[in-house]
Amino acid sequence: MTYPSDGKTTEMRFFADSMLGKMCRWLRLMGYDVGYATSDMTDDAIIEVCSGENLILITRDRELSIRYRNSVYIKSDMYEDQLHEFIRRFVPDETLYFTRCPLCNGLLKVTDDPEIMEKLPPGVRKMQKRVYVCDNCGKVYWEGSHYTSIRNEIKAIVDGVGEREE
Ligand SMILES: [Zn+2]
Repeated sequence: MTYPSDGKTTEMRFFADSMLGKMCRWLRLMGYDVGYATSDMTDDAIIEVCSGENLILITRDRELSIRYRNSVYIKSDMYEDQLHEFIRRFVPDETLYFTRCPLCNGLLKVTDDPEIMEKLPPGVRKMQKRVYVCDNCGKVYWEGSHYTSIRNEIKAIVDGVGEREE
């Protein structure tokens, strides 16, 4: 199995188990490099991928987290709390927000490709928002109202970490 990476081996790379889909999308929005297990992957297959590529496994499976030493065990089943558990250990870097595609973990690039611009909704073109394209799956994103609400939610999650200390 492979998934997109920017090839910087010094940076931490993660792999989330299939129970953590929503958390995984938020982590990617925050710029973490997170691969995602398909639901048909066995524990053995997950461990093989993680150890082969030196990935940190994020898992809700206690037993799996014990079997694979380089793991982050997540207790909560609510994604906000899961993110709190995670970012207490791996402090987010604001400069990396919106650098990865939440769907596939590919890197986002700012684009002004006329072919892409042409397909945008007319309102977006008129507002001349910054437009990004995923270099892996080709999905196009732009800085609209959805972007602002995601940015606000990330801020609320990060700010909430201190308040919810256990
Ligand atoms: Zn993508």
